[in-house]
Amino acid sequence: MRLDIKLKTVGLFCVGWSHPAVTGPDIQFVRRVNYDGSSQVYIPASSFKGALRSSASRIAESYGFKSCGGVRPEHIREKHTKMGRTCDVCEIFGHPWSASASPLMFSDLLPTGPIETTSLTRIRIDDKSMRAAEGALFSMEYVPPGCEFAGTIELMNVPKDKIALLLLSMAELRLGRIGRGGPLDLKIERADDLKQVLRGTEWLALLHELEEWLWHEVP
Ligand SMILES: [Zn+2]
Repeated sequence: MRLDIKLKTVGLFCVGWSHPAVTGPDIQFVRRVNYDGSSQVYIPASSFKGALRSSASRIAESYGFKSCGGVRPEHIREKHTKMGRTCDVCEIFGHPWSASASPLMFSDLLPTGPIETTSLTRIRIDDKSMRAAEGALFSMEYVPPGCEFAGTIELMNVPKDKIALLLLSMAELRLGRIGRGGPLDLKIERADDLKQVLRGTEWLALLHELEEWLWHEVP
């Protein structure tokens, strides 16, 4: 079963390269190079999946799911051993040391139209003192609010209750952000197959909510 996903930037948004730029802004938006040599900004599958995984960890226990809350492999392994099983979050999003792959396959999210990025100069804040670090001006490349990105999530034999956890993590992501990237809206499109699966359950209402943008532009 495949879900079509759209993400829309709500504020200034950046998914930065992890390596330093040679020219241009210090932190540039990630790009992929097309066959014709042109390049475009995009949201990598791994960034989107990672953000949903964190959202799932945050809300899992409020809805009766188990989460090891782990990031480091040895920590995850220890928590799972204590629980006597793999936690629900790792069961759908996978974990770093398991041979069994996650039953979710994410695609990269590509812009649905042309996007003009902007560069802004920011002040680097020292994490410990919360003051501006000395000599800490840096520039960052952003996409403006209202930019849409489209991609897919493939669900391979995900049980109904785990689908609920996936939908809850999407709802949570609309109130959060992708890493340090900025706030994002999310919606699911053409979810007819999923509606069949969820028919008669309380999760259908949540799916309906996720078929509409949450954030509306202020006129
Ligand atoms: Zn886990």
